Amino acid sequence: MAAIALGSLSVAFSDVIVDSLVVERARGESVAAAGSLQSLSWGASAAGGLLIQVLPKAARDEALVEKLESRVAALAGFTPLLQAGKTLPQIFEQLLGDMGLEILPETQLVRFHCGCSFDRVMGALKILGQDELRDMIEKDHGAEATCHFCNEVYRANSDQLEGLIQELQAESV
Ligand SMILES: [Zn+2]
Repeated sequence: MAAIALGSLSVAFSDVIVDSLVVERARGESVAAAGSLQSLSWGASAAGGLLIQVLPKAARDEALVEKLESRVAALAGFTPLLQAGKTLPQIFEQLLGDMGLEILPETQLVRFHCGCSFDRVMGALKILGQDELRDMIEKDHGAEATCHFCNEVYRANSDQLEGLIQELQAESV
């Protein structure tokens, strides 16, 4: 079994998994600044961070990604803004206000969850078509794909790829 070059799969996977997740972490607060604040108050004064996730389709828009990166880089850090009395909506407005910012009424705790699954990988492989699948069976005796969101590795053997070919044949009748 050989790993499929993910570059060549990125188109097929684009609506499912892959290649285009861009997570930009806002610049960290300076440790010294945080320490001095803590010694003054012995409590949390303000701490914040920013996680921007570009959805797969938008991530292909390099100008957009660059714009977001430069905006975040220009941000002087979250703690000073919060200390200055800015609210989160004000900070977001300052950062992204001219980019169609819409703040949803509900805020929620977030956690990382990847929706990938073997079935979805098989669905993405199927999109490659019969010729490509046959090629994988002959050359690699299977296929391997890594989810770029969570790094889960999925492997399909020749029988499973053959199953996809049969599904495609059945659908084309
Ligand atoms: Zn995943």
